[in-house]
Amino acid sequence: MAFITLNRQNFHHNLSQIALKTGSKEKIAIVLKDNAYGHGLELMAGLACEFGIRHAVVRNFAEASRIRTLFETILVLGGEIVADNVCSFALNSLQAILQAPKGAKVELKVDTGMHRNGIALHELDDALARIKTQDLKLVGVMTHYRSSDELSSEFFWQQKQFETVKKRVKEAGFSDVRTHSHNSAAILRVKHFDEDLVRVGIAAYGYHEFPSVFDVLELKPVLSLYAKKVASRVIKAGERVGYGGVFVAPREMLVSTYDLGYGDGWCRGDATQPYVTSEGLPILGRVSMDFIALESDKEVVCVMNDAKKAATQFNTISYEITTALASDIPKIII
Ligand SMILES: *Cc1c(COP(=O)(O)O)cnc(C)c1O
Repeated sequence: MAFITLNRQNFHHNLSQIALKTGSKEKIAIVLKDNAYGHGLELMAGLACEFGIRHAVVRNFAEASRIRTLFETILVLGGEIVADNVCSFALNSLQAILQAPKGAKVELKVDTGMHRNGIALHELDDALARIKTQDLKLVGVMTHYRSSDELSSEFFWQQKQFETVKKRVKEAGFSDVRTHSHNSAAILRVKHFDEDLVRVGIAAYGYHEFPSVFDVLELKPVLSLYAKKVASRVIKAGERVGYGGVFVAPREMLVSTYDLGYGDGWCRGDATQPYVTSEGLPILGRVSMDFIALESDKEVVCVMNDAKKAATQFNTISYEITTALASDIPKIII
């Protein structure tokens, strides 16, 4: 079966780089949502814990339950809210406040301009009042930036909005409330950091999506994807490979199939513009559900060791390349 290697040293290198920005690793919350961006939830949680990370962010309570013994706090971004001593839950709407059970630990998400989730600025007083009457434990206030990896003033404008939110929460009499707004791109670009936490995902896995004008820290990809040989054959010039016979051999070739396909979350792409593996081999013809063909005789090939480079080929972002990988692909820490 295809398999993934996870580079412990590179992951810890990336976390060290982020700690240089935050001032300490205690301020890093590792974002492990969606199976740790396809890297494997428990394995990455373990590696983060080993490095000294004490806070995590996940998509739902089911993910949190699988790693709850490893962290001091786990922020759950969506799904049902429950009262729990480790997990806190993002409040994405006024409605969510009314549905949360008494005593639940909550973090109020404020919409400072992204207009995806969170309560509007004009709803803030109402939200804070409801949190009090519902007997919820407000442990955090957060926002999310829509353009932190773009060269524009939007990022700074949203930051300003969030500053007023923090002030209003304090004035409403809440204390011991942690504040956080930075994702990877935000923490990589700022010079001064004075919040309680950063929510770091993609940078920890080794990527950023900045245009080249930004001068950013060096990050190293954590994940590499390999496939194993299934069968080999010699084909003559003019013979075709795979569904639709899209690839036509220009000469006699030794062609092997490898056990990775779109069933494993590998992008099927466009066979007329074939993906080139990190070893420089173009995929021959269409990607099947469970197989690709390459001109190679090697027992094991590295299909991808840099999701950013793969993303460029598929005209998408690094996030999508790794997150799409099937959770049942075996993983080894190296
Ligand atoms: C996914 C997510 C993050 C992490 O974003 P990266 O760009 O991967 O660092 C942070 N905050 C929220 C609310 C998110 O949904």
